[in-house]
Amino acid sequence: MTNIYRMLTFLTLLTSLNCYSKVDLIPDLVPKHAADLILHNGTIYTVNEEQPWAQAVAIKDGEIVYVGDNAGVKDWLSKTTKQQDLRGKMLLPGFIDSHAHPVMGGAYVRSLSLDSFAKPKRWLAQIKTYAQKNPEQKILFGYGFLASAFGTQGPTSKMLDEVVADRAVYLMDEGFHGAWANSKAMQLLGINKASKDPVPGFSYYKRDKHGIPSGYLLEGTATDAIDKLGIITAKSVALGTSDVIKIMNSYGITAVFDAGASDVGDLQLEVLEKISKQKQMTIRMVGSHMIGSVDAIVDAISKTKHKRATTKHEMYHINMLKIMNDGTIEGKTAGMFEDYQGEPGNKGETVFSQTQMNLLIAQAHQENIDVHIHALGERAITETLNAIELVRRNPSHRNRTNRYTICHIQVMTDNDIKRFSELDVIAQSTPLWASYDEFGKEFISDDQFNRYFRFNSLKQAGVKMSFGSDYPATGAGTLGMSPIFNMEIGHTRQTPQQKNAPIQPGKHERLDIATLIKGYTLDGAYQLHMEDQIGSIEVGKKADFVLLDSNLFKVDKYDIHQVKVLQTILDGKTVYLNQAD
Ligand SMILES: [Zn+2]
Repeated sequence: MTNIYRMLTFLTLLTSLNCYSKVDLIPDLVPKHAADLILHNGTIYTVNEEQPWAQAVAIKDGEIVYVGDNAGVKDWLSKTTKQQDLRGKMLLPGFIDSHAHPVMGGAYVRSLSLDSFAKPKRWLAQIKTYAQKNPEQKILFGYGFLASAFGTQGPTSKMLDEVVADRAVYLMDEGFHGAWANSKAMQLLGINKASKDPVPGFSYYKRDKHGIPSGYLLEGTATDAIDKLGIITAKSVALGTSDVIKIMNSYGITAVFDAGASDVGDLQLEVLEKISKQKQMTIRMVGSHMIGSVDAIVDAISKTKHKRATTKHEMYHINMLKIMNDGTIEGKTAGMFEDYQGEPGNKGETVFSQTQMNLLIAQAHQENIDVHIHALGERAITETLNAIELVRRNPSHRNRTNRYTICHIQVMTDNDIKRFSELDVIAQSTPLWASYDEFGKEFISDDQFNRYFRFNSLKQAGVKMSFGSDYPATGAGTLGMSPIFNMEIGHTRQTPQQKNAPIQPGKHERLDIATLIKGYTLDGAYQLHMEDQIGSIEVGKKADFVLLDSNLFKVDKYDIHQVKVLQTILDGKTVYLNQAD
């Protein structure tokens, strides 16, 4: 993974592109209209079924006013019109990351990022080097280890003490559902044998055979500790969030769904205002009020309504409800129908009972609130669909226009595939996770392993699918944010570039490129409830584009990750230009 990243960076330094060059589009007639910008001579894939391909677009006041051929766009040319020759390159609608944590990610983007695809030995070496390079840091903070690489007992303080004993070390796992602390951090947090587990089996401290917490914290205990350690401040998060936005722009992303900022909840608005004032809000953002515990039910709807009414800004709006309903496979906290392998009686957990989920969904439906639900295990997915079915079938609820998205959807039953379609529920996921899961395989049955990320089955059933990074919980550092990198894995279900790497079953779940593109554009826009403004290249929509150096339909499937973003345009203005190009 690291090598691939290096190679991508290196390739970024090659090629060249001239932005807004003087070109050969000379109007033969006085133009009927005057555009601000014309992009012509491109391979334009519009994601508009009625006109899938075009050569040129014209833009005025940040909106698309023409889509068609090179000859037709001349009508929009005036003396003041800027022009750019796309030189045959592929232009797409700006990518939409339909599930990420850009503000929460801001807290992590500058911290230690462990290579999630490596082994514990390598992580310990990375931690040791980081400690040596950062002698002034009182608490060493980072993320990205894979908890399942440590087997059922999880990582321990003792392992970390061997590389850093004099300072606290606190690391979140790649899924942000667990944390690994050294003895110094455990002392600072006051965690000992007497510490109670808030929700045994879900939010709890892993313990050794004497009942002493061994250094692996799960769910709520992991996130609470971040607050206690005071690692995150408004200033550091604002700096980090603008970094995340810049990185997203560099990967062609022009809109993002913020799926919650649990660790930085109260700072979220302050951070967004700060970034906007500094004119660095170069991405459209739809945000959510996130709940992940039963005591948050009581004011979940009123808080979401309040945010929806008070946070509308030109570039962001916090208007959805995000519900965390289960954990992860590697934490063995995802809600399943069968016991986890080797752990009789442990089927994982759902945060909310069926009755509580029914109540939440009914209340959100009543208020026409869009809801985004984290459900990763098969039981969590089924129960969430049950709750949605109740409101969809209720005649008094017919005229509601709110939307439901179930995100992650790692292990799914056959029956639920068609329910997504019947109940008009969006299936959201991160293609990168569909590469072969060597560790997860040990925790679940073969049957469950064969029902991982059923992208093609969902497509065949006519389900709308949206894709995103879940950054910083992707598991590939900042590269995890790249839609192009994700697309290769969604298409191959293998480690990038490795033809001979094992394929994640089922092989038939490999997804075609057109559907992957649609999931990163038009269907992402639908999830954001913004498909009338973004997601395809059509007259009347915002001029948000990404320019690539190769045609995604033509490159070899094992070379997709090498396709470079040359330029990203938001509202008709360049927000990223590949400088080397
Ligand atoms: Zn997430």
